Amino acid sequence: VAAVVGKGEIVHELSIPTEPARSFPAAVARITAAVLRVLDESGWRADELGGIGVGCAGPLDPVRGTIDNPYTLPGLVGGNIVAALRQELGCPVVLENDADMALLGECFAGAGQGFDPVVMLTFGTGIGGAALVDGRLLRGASGAHPELGHVPVEAGGPRCYCGASGCFESMASGSALGAAARVHGRGDARELLLAAEEGDLLARDVRARALEATVTATRTILHALLPERIILGGGMMDEHYEPFAGAVSDAIGRATLLGGARVSVARAELGNRAGLVGAASAVWSRRRLRRS
Ligand SMILES: [Zn+2]
Repeated sequence: VAAVVGKGEIVHELSIPTEPARSFPAAVARITAAVLRVLDESGWRADELGGIGVGCAGPLDPVRGTIDNPYTLPGLVGGNIVAALRQELGCPVVLENDADMALLGECFAGAGQGFDPVVMLTFGTGIGGAALVDGRLLRGASGAHPELGHVPVEAGGPRCYCGASGCFESMASGSALGAAARVHGRGDARELLLAAEEGDLLARDVRARALEATVTATRTILHALLPERIILGGGMMDEHYEPFAGAVSDAIGRATLLGGARVSVARAELGNRAGLVGAASAVWSRRRLRRS
């Protein structure tokens, strides 16, 4: 929870636990209390608040305002967070997928400024994907966002929780690398990637598979969306950006049908702040749309 002003500057910030299994009303009460505390500690009055942007792990419905994520937020499924917070706090509320909010933040004040279309891939436990086209988030049917982590990269590859197999995410995410690390006695994903940096051949093999999956997924993304810029973010990119950026550049170099389009890859600049800044910018752009 953060108070954000002007050019995306965070004036005050507060962390609260997610408590994913507790009930929806308890979550609303916890979030409302945190917002009121941030307002108070920022020296803002409630009526000065322009709105609230909520970035949340999907699936969710940004149009209806409901959270539909049984995987990591089982207690909140079906809850209308937009209606509930609007009622509690009396201001506009915007809900988007957390990967979408991070992309909006990077495009507002980070690595995506001045580029359009932009694709962002967030490497964490899973692989989140988001795309900005003509200044707006790319949405699919029912307002849902593209699931770039589930682009198929290997027929007959590892089983993914989505029901398919060989998804990008099931081969290159933190969870995928962590599972491979455990099988090979190389600790977790972080230790495995560090071992690969230090020349451990087995760790290099596992990493090479994740990088090849990244090349294949990027080729699909390039040909489907042709972004000007691909941003790589998420915890894994803090220490291991170079090999993954190399894989993306490799895919860009191999793509022959882009008609001379210049596509660049960049590391996310805002880190954890991207989602907070993006959530604020989503509120501001919704207000601009209403006024025009
Ligand atoms: Zn999948």
